[in-house]
Amino acid sequence: MMQLSRRSFIKQTGVTTAGIVIIPSLLSQHNSNKKYAGKKLNVALVGLGRYASILADGLQETQYCQLNGIVTGHPEKAKVWKAKYNLADKNIYNYENFDAIANNADIDVIYVVLPNAMHKEYTIRAAKAGKHVICEKPMAISSQECLEMIDACKQANVQLAIGYRLHYEPYNLEMKRLGQEKVFGPVRYVEAGLGYQTINFEGANSKPFDINDPNEWRLNKRWSGGGALMNLGVYCVQASRYILGENPISVTAQYGAVHDEKRFAQVEETILWQSQFPGGASANCNTSYGYNIDRLYASAENGFFELSPAISYGPFKGASANGEMHFADINQQAAQLDGIGKLLIENKQLPDHISGKEGLVDLCVMEAIYNAANTGSKVNIVYPQV
Ligand code: NAD
Repeated sequence: MMQLSRRSFIKQTGVTTAGIVIIPSLLSQHNSNKKYAGKKLNVALVGLGRYASILADGLQETQYCQLNGIVTGHPEKAKVWKAKYNLADKNIYNYENFDAIANNADIDVIYVVLPNAMHKEYTIRAAKAGKHVICEKPMAISSQECLEMIDACKQANVQLAIGYRLHYEPYNLEMKRLGQEKVFGPVRYVEAGLGYQTINFEGANSKPFDINDPNEWRLNKRWSGGGALMNLGVYCVQASRYILGENPISVTAQYGAVHDEKRFAQVEETILWQSQFPGGASANCNTSYGYNIDRLYASAENGFFELSPAISYGPFKGASANGEMHFADINQQAAQLDGIGKLLIENKQLPDHISGKEGLVDLCVMEAIYNAANTGSKVNIVYPQV
C-alpha cells in the first residue's frame, strides 16, 4: 500500500487532523493565480493521432482550457491542424524544437498523447520546460518510469495529471460513490472486463484504430509495454480500485488463449487476473483484443450495482439493487480537461486520484499481474512511497 506519513499527508493535502488548512509549498511557490487570471488555460497536444483528435474535439467544448498549440513530426498534419483550429505558427512545434516551448508564454499545459513508451520522455521534457503536464494512460511502461516522471514534475514545480477520463464521468462516479460510501454495505466482490476485437473510436476526426493492423504500435512491445492489459485492462485495474477505495495487496493471473500467434507474438491478446484487497474484497478482471466486453459489476453485503457498457465513450447503461441508473451522457474529454483545468487555474493541488501517484499505483498492479501470469504464482504488491 502507498503509506503516507502524517507529515507527508499534511504536506500533500494541506489538512491537519485538527482541520487546519495549510497551503502546500508547491502552490505557494507557483503564484499562478495571477498568471491565469481571466483567461483560459492554453493546452498543447503532443502527438496528433487518433486520441488527440478526440481530445481536440473535446477542447472545443471546454470552459477552462483551449487548444492553443501542437507538437507533431508531420508537417502536413501541422498544416491541417493549423487551419482547422486557427493555431499561430509560433505555437506549432516538432519533436526536435519541442523544448523551446519553455519560452512560449502562450502554452500553459502540455498534453502527451503519444505511444506509451514515449510518455516518460515527453512528460519530463514538458516539466523541464516549466509546463503542467497531462499524460495519457497508461502513465508509462514501468513503475520505475512513473517514479522518474513524478520526480521530474516535483523538481520543476509543475503538476502532473493522468488522462483518467472516467473520474469525471457520472455513471462511473456513481459506481465509486456506491462502493466507497458503502451504500449497499461493504463491497465483497468486483468484476471488471474490457475487450475489443477491433477498436473503433468514433471521434469526429478520428480514423478507426484496428487491432488487426500489423503496423499498430499497440502490438509492438517496445512501444506499448504490453498488450490488452496496458491499453484496456488498466481501466479494470482503475475501476476495481475506485469502487473499493483501496489498492490491491496481491494478484494471481493467467494468459488467455491466443487466436493469432503472428499478431500477438510480442504482447498478450487476453489476460485474466484476480486481486485481493486489504478490506477483504476480491476482484475478478479480464481484458482482451480477442473478444468484446465492457462491464463493471459490484456485489455488496446488501445489494449489487453494475454498468454495461461501462468504460468506452458511452452512452452507458447502469442498474443497482434499487433499479436503473440514469445520468447525462457527457463529453468525457471536455469534462476531464475542465476538471483538471479549473484546479490549475485556481492554483489548487490536483487530487491524488488523477495524479501521477494514481498512474504509478496502476503500473505497480499491472507489473504484478504480468509477474503472476508469467510465474503462475500469487504476487504480493509493494507500492513505492512518493
Ligand atoms: P495513435 O497511433 O493514433 O497516435 C499516436 C501518435 O503518436 C501519432 O500521431 C504518431 O504520429 C505519433 N508518434 C510519434 N512517434 C511515434 C512512433 N515512434 N510510433 C508511433 N507513433 C508515433 O495512438 P492513439 O490511439 O492516439 O494513442 C495515443 C495515447 O493515447 C496512448 O498512450 C493511448 O493509450 C492513449 N489513449 C487514451 C484513450 C483514452 O480514452 N483515455 C483513448 C485512446 C488512446
